[in-house]
Amino acid sequence: MNLVFLGPPGAGKGTIAALAKERLSLLHVSTGDLFRSNIKEKTELGKKVEQILASGNLVPDEVTIEMVRERLKKDDAENGYILDGFPRTIAQADALKEMAKLDAVVNFVLSKEEILKRLSGRRVCKSTGRTYHIIFNPPKVEGKDDETGEDLIQRDDDKEDAILNRLDVYEKSTAPLIDYYRAAGLLVDIDASKTPEKVLEEMIAKLG
Ligand code: ADP
Ligand code: AMP
Repeated sequence: MNLVFLGPPGAGKGTIAALAKERLSLLHVSTGDLFRSNIKEKTELGKKVEQILASGNLVPDEVTIEMVRERLKKDDAENGYILDGFPRTIAQADALKEMAKLDAVVNFVLSKEEILKRLSGRRVCKSTGRTYHIIFNPPKVEGKDDETGEDLIQRDDDKEDAILNRLDVYEKSTAPLIDYYRAAGLLVDIDASKTPEKVLEEMIAKLG
């Protein structure tokens, strides 16, 4: 099964993908995580995109599409995947149509008020990528990753200016994909305001 997780930043796509990949035995491909690991490893791609991510703007389509094309060619993508954070533009969706056959596009629906609460409280472990929330999903020890004990950080793009920019970018460039995929008969709307376990159950029930 090949799925796309669509929705505004902070809607819980990464959180649900981490649960769903175990339940459904799917590969989790997050374009945000791929860019962040390139930045951490200081690759050419990482250097090219670092400032773009910090500002909350989108990486150019050609760069992003190429990165996803290469990732989906690997053997571990053969048995199905969740694309989390891709596509984010109509051009990316058109390119994806040539690369993959999708089974469904899960649309995470959440109010702007909740999105702001989730993004401003999000904390991550830089090396493992694990995500927490200071109120909704706190680590066992404040400020530390549950497994490695490393310090948790706030992403640069979870600071106020970048959050507001990302929501604008979402409305302008990504929200049009809702109609695009509804017209293709692939869209499955999910109420993302419930607990992660309930969101996962609703999604699995709706996917059949
Ligand atoms: P996205 O991948 O869509 O940007 P994340 O999965 O990183 O979103 O979630 C954003 C923040 O909201 C994180 O801090 C996460 O712990 C928290 N979160 C995710 N899902 C839920 C939920 N169902 N209820 C409450 N908080 C959540
Ligand atoms: P995310 O982790 O999904 O919130 O993505 C973090 C950042 O990575 C975004 O704000 C963009 O700068 C970049 N990014 C992730 N996915 C894409 C994409 N499909 N197209 C362009 N830029 C992306």
